[in-house]
Amino acid sequence: MALMQPSMRLLETVGVWTDELKSASAPLETLRLVDDTGSVFAAPTVNFSHRELGEEPFGWNIPLDRLTAALQAAAVKSGVSMVDAKVSAYRSHSGNAQVTLDTGITLTAPVAIAADGRHSVMRAGAGITTAEWRYEQSALAMSFAHSTPHRGVSIEFHKPTGPFTTVPLPDNRSSLVWLVKPQDVDGILELSPDDLAARLQLEMHGELGLITDVSTPAVIPMQGLTARKFAASRLLLVGEPAHVVPPIGAQGLNMSLRDAAFAADAINDAIRMDEDPGSDKLLAAYDERRRGDVVPRQAVIDTLNRSLMSEFFPLHAARAAGMTLLQHVPPLRKRAMLEGLNPPGPLPRAMRG
Ligand SMILES: Cc1cc2nc3c(=O)[nH]c(=O)nc-3n(C[C@H](O)[C@H](O)[C@H](O)COP(=O)(O)OP(=O)(O)OC[C@H]3O[C@@H](n4cnc5c(N)ncnc54)[C@H](O)[C@@H]3O)c2cc1C
Repeated sequence: MALMQPSMRLLETVGVWTDELKSASAPLETLRLVDDTGSVFAAPTVNFSHRELGEEPFGWNIPLDRLTAALQAAAVKSGVSMVDAKVSAYRSHSGNAQVTLDTGITLTAPVAIAADGRHSVMRAGAGITTAEWRYEQSALAMSFAHSTPHRGVSIEFHKPTGPFTTVPLPDNRSSLVWLVKPQDVDGILELSPDDLAARLQLEMHGELGLITDVSTPAVIPMQGLTARKFAASRLLLVGEPAHVVPPIGAQGLNMSLRDAAFAADAINDAIRMDEDPGSDKLLAAYDERRRGDVVPRQAVIDTLNRSLMSEFFPLHAARAAGMTLLQHVPPLRKRAMLEGLNPPGPLPRAMRG
């Protein structure tokens, strides 16, 4: 999972960015966009280097299982009680958030956070509706070994079915997210390990040399979702209950961690000022702040994704023009990098370092 600078500072703040986790992860130093659409309006290759912004890499690619385990251990260490159960219902009742678990237990608090994924039971219980849409794409996620070192470069090949993105891992390995047409998934899954490695090598035009040791691909259907409110009925939405985006530009979990950090700030501030942490005022401020970060980002990701799949030539021309400007106008490139990394306005406290 590629996490950018602000998210990395949050990991440092909560004490999980240890040498052990670092040794399982790889820094992201350059992001390279390669037009591989075959369109007559070919766009130039664009390189974003972290050196244009400073010494720190853009972020790190961290194995998700290791990250989740480290976060869980840190939560337990800081005194969080873990309950192994599913939420079966949510409601706001008598000035409290009320969460019912499938064990039959009901928990109450002045405010609750829904982080129960895209099919959130808690969001539905708060009466929050969603806008949802599907893409004619499935993501294939896997990792592989390669003979040519990646040198900290993540490469996003723009193909007619969507991006094919390699992200560095330690020891000459990279992770890959490949967006394909749903009808092509079975054919790819049926390839033998050697044929799959050869296919990846071909798709990358040999950029990473000889490809070997490809892990079994995971298949994820692509969809988008935006909650019509990011907070209501004493509930703050964090992560996929609020927003789902295709895996382009490593935005999903980075936005989710910002949700969590802003929610923590809002609740802590209310408690410190002896105010109700589930008040309508606090929920409205959270909704406005998170919407301002998430909605424009979803629009950019959606436009880029659809422009690749579209056969409408003016869209190809517009994308090529945009990439040409990014490659040749350094201030524009710098601005795009800063906007890719940071939300508008001040960062939440845990991400300031
Ligand atoms: C292929 C791929 C690659 C990606 N790469 C990146 C990347 O490099 N960088 C990045 O920033 N983002 C990336 N993303 C996006 C990122 O994975 C998501 O944004 C992120 O996982 C969202 O986390 P979440 O906790 O909201 O949802 P989830 O990961 O779906 O977690 C939801 C959790 O809620 C639990 N749950 C569900 N229902 C209940 C219930 N009723 N009661 C209790 N618990 C419940 C589930 O068991 C689960 O543990 C990628 C996505 C994909 C598909």
